[in-house]
Amino acid sequence: MQVQCPKHKDSQFLYIWSKENEVKFICDQCHSDLIRLKQVQSQNLINIRKAYQNPEYLFSEITNSEILQEFFFELNQCEEKNLNHQIMEIEKFIKEVQNQLIVMQQELYVYKKKYMELRLQIREKLEEIIKFDQFKKCISNLNQLEKTINPQDITQSERDVYNYFQDSILKKQVSLNNQIFTILNYKNQYTRESRINYPEWNKLDQLYKQLNEMHTSFNIMINPKFPGTIQNTSLLAREFQAKLIDIIVKKSNKPITKIELIHQECYSNLNAETFWNKVDGKDNLLIVFQSEKENIFGAYSPCQWVKSQRGQYVSDETLTSFLFSQTNNQIYPIKKDFRGYAIYCCLQYGPVFGGTPLLNRAIYYFQNKSDLHITSNFQIGSSSLGTSYAIEEKQTQPDLEINLFGQNAQKITTYEIFQLSFN
Ligand SMILES: [Zn+2]
Repeated sequence: MQVQCPKHKDSQFLYIWSKENEVKFICDQCHSDLIRLKQVQSQNLINIRKAYQNPEYLFSEITNSEILQEFFFELNQCEEKNLNHQIMEIEKFIKEVQNQLIVMQQELYVYKKKYMELRLQIREKLEEIIKFDQFKKCISNLNQLEKTINPQDITQSERDVYNYFQDSILKKQVSLNNQIFTILNYKNQYTRESRINYPEWNKLDQLYKQLNEMHTSFNIMINPKFPGTIQNTSLLAREFQAKLIDIIVKKSNKPITKIELIHQECYSNLNAETFWNKVDGKDNLLIVFQSEKENIFGAYSPCQWVKSQRGQYVSDETLTSFLFSQTNNQIYPIKKDFRGYAIYCCLQYGPVFGGTPLLNRAIYYFQNKSDLHITSNFQIGSSSLGTSYAIEEKQTQPDLEINLFGQNAQKITTYEIFQLSFN
């Protein structure tokens, strides 16, 4: 790409400036002028050389999908030469591990030798204490008798051995045992100090841990994080599916293994009874609504839904619950101080998220002001965002009253319930 900028001599086109109704080729100097005049923002500039070589870069500069931008950025981040470098580093390391394996094996021989020495030392002491040579003498005498086979001599030999047992061992058992215990105690202390550590083996263990880390980081490099999807939804757009999954995984800090559509209902069939029968006892539910104005919104909470006649709030100590509006591309996380009011279970209502309980003589009553409240017929709802679920500061209260449903109509036409499973 070597086209001269007609406005600036000796300066070549570097960027494509993407504007609403046209694009312009600009050079470095055009760029500086535009920056000075504050006419261009760097995110609207596409590097020509990079785009020419790299369709992923080109696409991520143009697409409106944040999820795809992130994906292609990540996919492109790691060059082949980096991977080769990483593999070479691992290879070097493997050599080091191989050397260490040999050293570790030598260490085994050293310790074996020490062990054999130890046995010998103990044996020598034992021989001394039990006067072993006397016993040996008895037995060698017997051996010499073998040719003559004189019964009297054999009897004599047996008596000798008996006397040896009696005099050298049995009659002074206590003191003799004590002497041996003393020797063993001394040897035990000595060996404990001198050999337990296996330093070469430990070094090998450390090397292996490092190799494992290198392997893990290589594995991360070659495993791009694909955008998540939710099957069987007629309400959630692909982009927003990926966004929801990303948020849930980050907040829960564990991977999702399964997302199952457990209920889908529209128009005439909407009622709270069916809802409660479907959700009773279940947790990790993602619920998505569509209003008459075709606004799509909903909520995720790890809390367990339970049929309750009198009504009860369920607390979310994990702070993972959130409301969302796909239409406004917004997430509303639960406020820390309001985690006790993540969801409200009461058979007289549909699903309720958030609230400020009314304190009356030490009894908390349900107050009809929640971040999202679906009524008993399951067709009408209300939404006061910012009560227990946080909103961005710039949004004002009147906006929020209609925020989730869209304009004044607060009727629901369709909803879906998904149950998530985690590892
Ligand atoms: Zn120029």
